[in-house]
Amino acid sequence: MVSPSAVTVRVPAKVNLQLSVGPRRDDGFHELATIFHAVGLHDDVTVTEQPAGSGITLACEGEGADLVPLDETNLAWRAVRILADAAGVDADVSVQIDKHIPVAGGMAGGSADAAGALLACDALWGLGTPRSELHDLAAALGSDVPFALQGGTAIGSGRGEQLTSVLARGSFHWVFALAREGLSTAAVYAECDRLRADRHVPDPYVSDMLMQALRAGDPVLLGKSLHNDLQQAAFSLRPMLARVIEAGEECGALGGIVSGSGPTCAFVARDAEHALDIAVSLTSTGLVRSVKRSSGPALGARVI
Ligand code: ATP
Repeated sequence: MVSPSAVTVRVPAKVNLQLSVGPRRDDGFHELATIFHAVGLHDDVTVTEQPAGSGITLACEGEGADLVPLDETNLAWRAVRILADAAGVDADVSVQIDKHIPVAGGMAGGSADAAGALLACDALWGLGTPRSELHDLAAALGSDVPFALQGGTAIGSGRGEQLTSVLARGSFHWVFALAREGLSTAAVYAECDRLRADRHVPDPYVSDMLMQALRAGDPVLLGKSLHNDLQQAAFSLRPMLARVIEAGEECGALGGIVSGSGPTCAFVARDAEHALDIAVSLTSTGLVRSVKRSSGPALGARVI
């Protein structure tokens, strides 16, 4: 079989329908009980073979591309490196990222790009790496990377890298309110630790009500079940976000939540038309940079 000289992989953003943050572990990570949900905002990652000795080069286009590092600190770059090292391949590739996932938005865009680069290089080099090995490499790159490979809806435990698929009926309609400036995930976790420093933090567990909403495909119950332990910390660092959540609910959303560590806010709608109404109303508040709509669950990383 002739290997392709370029491969493009499409990767989804995620929203955490539940993000329960347990005690801080000795390794600095927090024990999580989370439900990841892939949504139809995508980045496309294209890897193209280059002459021997070229090494890895990176380019990024699209929304927020100027905020994305183009060196070895980029998660996609690290993904190419880690797969090449594991497989004993010389990494002579250019990586092109077409960005549609908000940068530093709490939707795991960098993690998605890493998952995309892993899968794209695996196909480019004809490695056929077993899924379980790709998952382990993904987990070494970051807690959210394995889910970007898998997509759909899944319970995440440990630091979020241990995944169990969840059967969710139908699809849900989402409105995302994008902020003008990103938030640092590390800063939000630090603020969360500060806010609850004098409290006992119980072990986190997955909400029965949320699982029921997913099994039933019930957007009303889903809206009531959304929960994020990082939300107060995100509000504390960016008070405007509390107003955005309030505004979304006033615009008729069935529920609203800060996505991951924020600052993107996610709102669930009854159907596509309702999502359009919410998006229009939210835009007119002037509280947000822009608004995007999409549905979920979406597929995980896939070659296109
Ligand atoms: P997290 O997965 O921590 O919730 P996030 O979704 O909030 O992250 P990302 O878009 O992944 O945010 O970016 C966080 C930071 O990571 C950026 O500010 C950027 O400096 C760096 N970064 C590294 N690689 C990438 C990438 N491929 N795309 C976007 N940002 C990247």
